Amino acid sequence: MPNPDVIFETLILGSGPAGLTAAIYAARSRCCPTLIHGLQPGGQLTTTTAVDNFPGFPQGVDGPALMENMRLQAERFGTQFIEGEVTRVELGERPFKIWLGEELYRCLTLIIATGASPRLLGLGNEEALYGRGVSVCATCDGFFYRDKEVVVVGGGDTAVEEAVFLTRFATRVTMIHRRDELRAVPVLAQRALDNDRIAFRWDTAVAEIIADQSGVTGVRLKNLKTGEEEDFPCDGVFIAIGHQPNAALFEGQLDFDKDGYILTKNGTETSVPGVFAAGDVQDPIFRQAVTAAGSGCMAAIQAERFLDDLPSEAQLSCRKGICTEG
Ligand code: NAP
Repeated sequence: MPNPDVIFETLILGSGPAGLTAAIYAARSRCCPTLIHGLQPGGQLTTTTAVDNFPGFPQGVDGPALMENMRLQAERFGTQFIEGEVTRVELGERPFKIWLGEELYRCLTLIIATGASPRLLGLGNEEALYGRGVSVCATCDGFFYRDKEVVVVGGGDTAVEEAVFLTRFATRVTMIHRRDELRAVPVLAQRALDNDRIAFRWDTAVAEIIADQSGVTGVRLKNLKTGEEEDFPCDGVFIAIGHQPNAALFEGQLDFDKDGYILTKNGTETSVPGVFAAGDVQDPIFRQAVTAAGSGCMAAIQAERFLDDLPSEAQLSCRKGICTEG
């Protein structure tokens, strides 16, 4: 149970690339960060095997290993880690209040790096097949499908971008969409429609992912108009039906965009001064580990500047590490 008199200088929520990079920068600036993470720290990268596009690793790097290294780096400079699930926040006044069940933590600056979760189809085996034929990120995993056959599920901007990207590797890309027209903006949609390496199955849902010991071997497709089912062989299933930013905790307290992402300006500032958001929870467009890490860095720098501008009595109490009020 935390000491109720303690006010933390910088609390970071989330332990993906954004949260851990924020922690590394905040710790090196002596902002004494404390990072709260859930039961499975490390974020989305821990569900990926090889990460080939994070700069600095010419041979690629294992996702969980990359996250473990970021954590060690944050620890080296003095980041404190707390495990637990944040159940409630109050951002109406400073210090901000963060509850982990009955435990209350108070802080002067808050960096939200809670990420986003890919929406899934709700089929029994899809999560178990991550890394063995099921993917939610073509940029991360497309390379492994050189000369293979893949399907992309979804009809939005992401699905179209993923399908077009995958034509660089796969011999055949088939988009499976539940309606008969794409949701993607016309310019993107046309790019897919004009690409003769992309085929379409309209009005169609994936009813089942078929797999053997080594991974995905196909999908069972269901035509939603006729009810007809067919087995469609493929090596990879890219699910691109949208992401859900993990921001529900902040509803009504921060400004969101129309899709539920936390709105930021000037880098990572949210609508509440002293609260910063970094990574996928505020990024509907790029969603890459390296962009998340970059915005984590920005959030830490902005939090530090915010702390520097606080009245001196708050600053003085905070420069000792874990801060006490007054
Ligand atoms: P999205 O626009 O919400 O599209 C999701 C797609 O998946 C839709 O086609 C939807 O079908 C389908 N879908 C949803 N749930 C499904 C389910 N359970 N089963 C089967 N299909 C399902 O998501 P997004 O494509 O990830 O884009 C999210 C946001 O990021 C958008 O605002 C987008 O414009 C933006 N974005 C922009 C860019 C860019 O500017 N380059 C790139 C990527 C994303 P319906 O069409 O029937 O609803």
